[in-house]
Amino acid sequence: MRLLTLSIASLLVCAAAPQTDPALERAHKLAEKGMHELHAYAYLDQLVNGVGPRSAGSKGADKAVSWGLAKMKEIGLANVHEIPCMVHTWERGAAEKLTLKSNGKSTPLSCCALGNSIATAPNGLTAEVIEVRSDEELAALGVKAKGKIIFFNRPMNPALSNTFDAYGGAVGQRVNGAAAAARLGAVGVLVRSMTMAHDNVPHTGSMNYEKGVTQIPAAAVSLVAADRLSKTIKDNPQAMVTLKMHCRTLPDRPSASVAGEIPGTEAGRDIVVLGAHLDSWDITPGAHDDGAGVVQCLEAARLIKSLGWKPKRTMRFIFFMNEENGGEGAKAVFESMKGAGETVYAALESDSGGFAPRAFGASLDAEGVEALGPYMPALKLFGIERIDAKGRGGADIGPLAALGAKLFGLVPESQAYFDVHHSRKDTLASVNPRELQMGAHAMTMLSVLLANE
Ligand SMILES: [Zn+2]
Repeated sequence: MRLLTLSIASLLVCAAAPQTDPALERAHKLAEKGMHELHAYAYLDQLVNGVGPRSAGSKGADKAVSWGLAKMKEIGLANVHEIPCMVHTWERGAAEKLTLKSNGKSTPLSCCALGNSIATAPNGLTAEVIEVRSDEELAALGVKAKGKIIFFNRPMNPALSNTFDAYGGAVGQRVNGAAAAARLGAVGVLVRSMTMAHDNVPHTGSMNYEKGVTQIPAAAVSLVAADRLSKTIKDNPQAMVTLKMHCRTLPDRPSASVAGEIPGTEAGRDIVVLGAHLDSWDITPGAHDDGAGVVQCLEAARLIKSLGWKPKRTMRFIFFMNEENGGEGAKAVFESMKGAGETVYAALESDSGGFAPRAFGASLDAEGVEALGPYMPALKLFGIERIDAKGRGGADIGPLAALGAKLFGLVPESQAYFDVHHSRKDTLASVNPRELQMGAHAMTMLSVLLANE
C-alpha cells in the first residue's frame, strides 16, 4: 500500500515538472537507442577477434588501420583519411623460456619479454638472482650486482583505491630497471608483472635503455613465478635462472593513424576531437587496452549520425597509432593539425579500459570544472559522478593542448583493469557489454555538449 502511494506521488511529481533540461533529454534518447543496441560490443568483437593483436609495425596493425578506415566510411563519416607516421617496430620472436635451478631441481617460470628488450644469447642467459624492491636497495648492492640478474619485485600497492596510482608507484622498475641494473654491471633483469592478479600470466609493457649504458635483456614474470623465485632465492642464494628470449628491434616501418569527421554546422570554428589508440601489445587482443576506447569513439560517431544530431563544431574521431611504444601517431596527428592551422576546442580520450564509467579527468582548474556543472545531470545518466580538475586527459591527445584544447580523459572503474592489462587475458570476455556502452555514451554526451557550446 505504501508502495502504491509512493508511485502515485512520483507520477504526480513527473506530471507537474516536465523535463526541461535539453541535455538531459538528449541523454535519455541516447540511452534509449544505445542500451538497446549495445553496438560498441559488436565493434569490439570485430577488432579483438577479427583483427586481433596489433602491435605497431605488425601485419595486425596494418589490418587494424584498414578496419578503422572501413568502419568510419560505413558509418558515413566525412573526410575519412590516414595520417601517416613511421613507427618504432619491435618483435618478440619465439616464446620466451625461464628456468629456475635450485638444489638439482629445474622449475619452469612463466615470463614474457618486455617491449624493446634485446634478446639473450641463443643458448640463454644463466646467472644468480638478487631481489630488490626499491631504488635504494638496488643502489646498496654496489659491486654485488655485477654478473647477476636483478629481480625487481616491488608489488603494486594494494592499499591504494585507484589502481592507476598503484601502477604509477611500481612501473618505474619495468621502464628504467634494466638501465639502472646495467649501470652496476648486472647482466639481465626480471620484473614482477604490473598487476595485482595472483595468477601465472605475465604482463608485458615498454622498457627503455639509456644512451651509453650497456643493454641487458629484460622480462616480466607472473606473480606466481615472482613469489616462487623470491622464496627460492631466500632459501638458496646460489639458485640460478636461465632466461631465453628471441626478441629484436627492426627498422622503423610506415604506418598510420585513422581519422574521420562529422562536419559542424558552423564552418570555420575550432574542432572537438575524440580519440583512442588502435595499437595493442603483441601478446594480447587488447580488448580493454585500447579496443574499448576505439569502439567507444566509433560508437559515439555512429550514435550521433543515426540520431541525426548536428553539432555546431566539427567533431573529429581519431584512432592513434603506437601509443604503446613510441607515440609517433600522436606526434604526426599534432603536426598535421598544426600545419593546417587548426585549433581545437576540446579533446576527449578513452584509454583506461572499458569498465563502468565513473568520472572524467579534465585539464581544467576548479573554476573551469564548475562551469560544466549544468552538464552533470546528463552525464550522471551514464555513471559519471564528477569531473576532476587537473586530471588526466590521455597520452595521445596531450599534444593537442598546444592547439588550444581542453583535455578530457574518461575515468572508468579501475579495480580489474590491471588484472588483464598488457596480457593475454585482455579479451572480449573480460569486457561487459553494458559497461562498455555506458562509456561510449559518456564520451558521446560530453563531446556533443562541448561541440555545441
Ligand atoms: Zn592504452
